[in-house]
Amino acid sequence: MTPPDGDRRAVVTGGTRGIGAAVTRRLVEAGYEVFAMARHSVDIDGAAVVVCDVTDTLAVSDVFSRLGTVGVLVNNAGAAVSNPIERTTDDEWETVMAVNATGPFLCSRAVVPGMKERGFGRIVTIASSAGIAGAPYISAYAASKHAAVGLTRALAAELAGSGVTAAAVCPTYVKTEMTDETIRNIADRTGAGLEEAWRRLADLTPHGRILQPEEVADVVLDLIGDPTANGEIRVLDGGS
Ligand code: NDP
Repeated sequence: MTPPDGDRRAVVTGGTRGIGAAVTRRLVEAGYEVFAMARHSVDIDGAAVVVCDVTDTLAVSDVFSRLGTVGVLVNNAGAAVSNPIERTTDDEWETVMAVNATGPFLCSRAVVPGMKERGFGRIVTIASSAGIAGAPYISAYAASKHAAVGLTRALAAELAGSGVTAAAVCPTYVKTEMTDETIRNIADRTGAGLEEAWRRLADLTPHGRILQPEEVADVVLDLIGDPTANGEIRVLDGGS
């Protein structure tokens, strides 16, 4: 379904790197006016960059009121931490919860009233396979991503029949800077070489491989284009 003209304005949080940059590029190719939101400004072809920390209540509300009509919100900005629970600090817990759970809440809250009023809107949240299942050493990350999936489900129920949809994508590991960091940790902790660390990480997933950011972006575009996708939680793990 093609959205009305005024609704071809999209905000992609964390749209400057990794999965978010791939989503930004796909939306630009599809003719959207795209605003990539991040804490640091970088050039990204065809999109405007908006400097804003998604955990900052006032900044988020100010940015969205300046942007005006937004037809598409992709909640993608994220933070990860991997530690056994006894070594997970208060700061790590709070940061991960703030970026991965509070950020999508603040941004969704800012766009929903306008979307409802116009009877059109798409909210897609990049959660994670850790949003639907647990794994060792990711208590904070898994809790925050379960929260993001819960937010999506509640929004979908609240928005049903309004023309606004909320959906989430739950990928396994994707080749981005976030995963590069995970690989460095595995290599440091186990003494494995980088290539072996990539293999071990891929072997933890049902499909035995690392996804590319563009694969996630394609699913985001599918969900945006599908008016029946309200409440969909799309798991990208090769089919578990
Ligand atoms: P990256 O670390 O590569 O990029 C993160 C992006 O988010 C950057 O643009 C960063 O820009 C921005 N960002 C981080 N914190 C904030 C903040 N507080 N406010 C605004 N922007 C912020 O992440 P990925 O591309 O790997 O991940 C994207 C999403 O996908 C995340 O939610 C992640 O949890 C999820 N995911 C990732 C997987 C993976 O294996 N990589 C697997 C499953 C899900 P800046 O630093 O300038 O703020």
